[in-house]
Amino acid sequence: MATARISTITCPSCGHQKAEEIPLDACVYFYECEGCGQLLKPLAGDCCVFCSYGSIGCPYKNL
Ligand SMILES: [Zn+2]
Repeated sequence: MATARISTITCPSCGHQKAEEIPLDACVYFYECEGCGQLLKPLAGDCCVFCSYGSIGCPYKNL
């Protein structure tokens, strides 16, 4: 059974945290922080913002 994949994204700029569900069909490359409005992008070598800033990475990284 599929389980919800929730990753808490921490903004590197202001520290705002928000739990977001990781979509299973696409990588999230851009994420706008609700705290400061900064547009977050993955760090070099990461495929999505969850891998760079999330409490858990996206499901594709560990395949
Ligand atoms: Zn922020």
